[in-house]
Amino acid sequence: MRYDFRSQISFIRRCVGAARRSIGSSRLAGGEPRSFSCAICGGKSFRFTTVLWPGLVAEWELSPAEAHYIDRQQGETCVRCGGNLRSIVLANALRAAVGTERPLRRLIRSSKMKRLAVLELNEAGSLHTVLAKLPKHVFGAYPAVDMQALPYQDGTFDLVIHSDTLEHIEDPVKALTECRRVLKPGGALCFTVPVVAGRMSRNRRGLPNSYHGAPTTGASDYVVHTEFGADVWEFVARAGFSRIAVLTLDYPTATAVMARNGPD
Ligand SMILES: [Zn+2]
Repeated sequence: MRYDFRSQISFIRRCVGAARRSIGSSRLAGGEPRSFSCAICGGKSFRFTTVLWPGLVAEWELSPAEAHYIDRQQGETCVRCGGNLRSIVLANALRAAVGTERPLRRLIRSSKMKRLAVLELNEAGSLHTVLAKLPKHVFGAYPAVDMQALPYQDGTFDLVIHSDTLEHIEDPVKALTECRRVLKPGGALCFTVPVVAGRMSRNRRGLPNSYHGAPTTGASDYVVHTEFGADVWEFVARAGFSRIAVLTLDYPTATAVMARNGPD
């Protein structure tokens, strides 16, 4: 049989190429290390999947840099637990509210946490399954539960949590005022919204409808009413909270707000 040197070289090149691709994909499957760890499970590796679509980027008039960090906020996830950066910064706000550095999965097993009455409005990303294990967890489905007229008595909860929901509420200050009303004195509100950090908030009234989550259905509960910016805290102050903290993760990638219900 004739030895074909060129086809042998070609075969070796194909093997090397396949090996390189294999190494590349296993690195992707293993995730990229980051300087921060996951506040939900303590994981340190993250992977990324694009989430934003061109129509949304155009409606929000996002620059390529803004689109990239908002994409990371929604699409960069912890390899171990699947929590995205939005859920992780919310877990950071929750840890700040409770006064601990423990990952949320361990925190919920503590007797301190089990005593807390927690209201979760709409599913708070990957925190939902963790929070649902708490004995005093109450879930307010969205949009069935109206955030502008919460069906709970004054001073019921130690913690109120929502994630990427407030931008869909027509009057966000009214909704935040309701969150404060149902909090006990000293209780805390923790929430996220998509924040474009380099500009001020704007109401989309008068602009073409923009949708999150299900652009093809056009369901009214997915319509975005407010695009939040650097002044996100100001909505919280107008709702009557006087102690407000803004938490960032890999700024400006993900932002959460923690606000304490008095004492003033
Ligand atoms: Zn994790």
